[in-house]
Amino acid sequence: MAKIVMKFGGTSVADLDRIRHVATLVKREVDLGNQVAVVVSAMAGETNKLVGWVRELSPLHDAREYDVVVASGEQVTAGLTAIALAAIGVNARSWLGWQMPLKTSAMHGAARIEAIEVEGMIESFKPKLINERLEQGQVAVVAGFQGVAPDNRITTLGRGGSDTSAVAVAAALQADRCDIYTDVDGVYTTDPRIVPKARRLEKIAFEEMLEMASLGAKVLQTRSVETAMVHRVPVRVLSTFDAGAGGTLLCDEDDIVEKKPVTGIAYSRDEAKITLHRISDQPGVAAAIFGPLADAGINVDMIVQNVSPDGRRTDLTFTCNRNELGRAMAAIEAAAPTIGYKDITSDAHVAKVSIIGIGMRAHPGVAQTMFRTLSEKGINIQVISTSEIKVSVLISEDYVELAVRALHSAYDLDGP
Ligand code: ADP
Ligand code: ASP
Ligand code: MG
Repeated sequence: MAKIVMKFGGTSVADLDRIRHVATLVKREVDLGNQVAVVVSAMAGETNKLVGWVRELSPLHDAREYDVVVASGEQVTAGLTAIALAAIGVNARSWLGWQMPLKTSAMHGAARIEAIEVEGMIESFKPKLINERLEQGQVAVVAGFQGVAPDNRITTLGRGGSDTSAVAVAAALQADRCDIYTDVDGVYTTDPRIVPKARRLEKIAFEEMLEMASLGAKVLQTRSVETAMVHRVPVRVLSTFDAGAGGTLLCDEDDIVEKKPVTGIAYSRDEAKITLHRISDQPGVAAAIFGPLADAGINVDMIVQNVSPDGRRTDLTFTCNRNELGRAMAAIEAAAPTIGYKDITSDAHVAKVSIIGIGMRAHPGVAQTMFRTLSEKGINIQVISTSEIKVSVLISEDYVELAVRALHSAYDLDGP
């Protein structure tokens, strides 16, 4: 007998038939004698609809009310899944964020789960009651994506946050494994929706998955990977619709024998670029630019400053999330007198493409293959950034798919 967490994403619970199907997958585990906690997302499209309503009423809405609205999708599926389970004779009960309780920070819209309780640690997330019910043979159906802030108001964990709910619940319950069921049968070398030749990975190292997720691979939320890594939760990604399919296991780097230079390719269209022209090339200018952005809570990603031809004036380009472009421009323009630039331009028609692999550390020339491949396709690189196990480039959004496919072939990732 094992204690397991099964998480089902939006497409897996998109309608009543699919919820019935999910119930049969849960029943199968229960019939094997396992204790099961299920974590569900909102029905596919539901969260987008709710977010759309909030934004339409007021772009400057209160984030606490955003959470009240947006968290409701998961409440519906938690209840429906518990009902579907009961209908096939499985003892089940739904649990909302506040009932567990899953305590989070007060950062509404993108709250962090506070330290997870594992025996003897801080009183924060200790689903004691759920554990007792599991021991009595009851299935817990947990509403993903939601928690409760210190002031008792409902919070949400950022888009894709049900993955993090699932891993956190698994850590807190000290579950034997956390199975993330979704609409693909594992983590692929790149998004299989844009590269049909993408291959499923049997295993992927936590570090690589962390980069893949944070660089745009939607299959797992970045924080879920962090949580799994810190709390040593065995996580698998599996298909809801093809029960026999292989899946992908997240593992330690040392468990990967063959370390290819590039394991996967990620892309993100959520990018925007801002360029400040003819700023003065002297100490304090970067601080004058990025100070107001930090104060406005804007995350800056890539940054490039040109060499100044005359030693006095230069240009600086940075990228941020496309949704934050308006606020970023406003923050810079408000600080214009202190920064002192001649002109400012922005471009929301850009995308970031990244190659990721722990093998990169040992293989020289990996970045060069990327640059050559893109140049052969006539794709201009606007900004580059690197870390030990990834290289990212900013390109025009028009060429994302072409770039990802070309790189996938160039690094020998294409499947049969
Ligand atoms: P869920 O609703 O189950 O949480 P998501 O839509 O959040 O599912 O994530 C699954 C999707 O992630 C897939 O349908 C796929 O298009 C996308 N995806 C992006 N990159 C990858 C990748 N490297 N491997 C697998 N899926 C990926
Ligand atoms: N329903 C939420 C979203 O669409 C959370 C999730 O699906 O993980 O972002
Ligand atoms: Mg998801």
